[in-house]
Amino acid sequence: MTGVTGVTGVKRVSEKALRKEVIATALSMSRSGLTAGRSGNVSCRFEDGMLITPSGKRYEETEPEDIVFVAADGSVPKAQAKPSSEWHFHLAAYHARPDRSAVVHTHSTHATVLACAHKPIPAFHYMVAVAGGKDIPCVPYATFGTEELARHVAAGLKDRDACLMANHGQIALGKSLSYALELAIEVEVLAEQYYKVMSTGAEHLLSDDEMRKVVEKFKSYGKNTELD
Ligand code: 13P
Ligand code: ZN
Repeated sequence: MTGVTGVTGVKRVSEKALRKEVIATALSMSRSGLTAGRSGNVSCRFEDGMLITPSGKRYEETEPEDIVFVAADGSVPKAQAKPSSEWHFHLAAYHARPDRSAVVHTHSTHATVLACAHKPIPAFHYMVAVAGGKDIPCVPYATFGTEELARHVAAGLKDRDACLMANHGQIALGKSLSYALELAIEVEVLAEQYYKVMSTGAEHLLSDDEMRKVVEKFKSYGKNTELD
């Protein structure tokens, strides 16, 4: 491990601190019921690449040195653990969104239910705009860990901070790990609410104009200091 600093949100922190933050985020993801067992993965930008959770390892047993550095070209320098099988779509997300620094992927129940039904989340509630647009899209299915899936995810995240992945789960971006996790939780809450609204048989979707207004309002919502 080097003493080089990386960026999380507006802070500059050490590589060791970032490795610990990746683990803490994965643990919160799993403890908040957002993902079961070893599913899901977490990363943040570091140097020209990213720091990502190792593949198939219990988050409770993951140590800072198990977090894998993957370079921008997808190479894994020196002897390290095996990176998450989804490193392709994490890298593709950073490439598609230079303004974002962290990625959280989960198989959270309601987001996954909608994803398995190939149902995007439409403008049933104004909070859908939290992902940056009038809906939360569902990208087509491709086998996990493939470049094809990475291409679908990159297209879905081009103008959104989150999307569903058909027959798989959801992915959320943030300017820091805590923002990415917060958004993944919000997407799961919206998916559950939408699922229940659908069960009433009555949907009242907001117009594109209204959603544009809400997206604009969200640009300043919750920003109480210059650091927010
Ligand atoms: P990894 O353990 O390889 O990160 O895979 C989990 C997963 O969710 C695959 O989509
Ligand atoms: Zn997955």
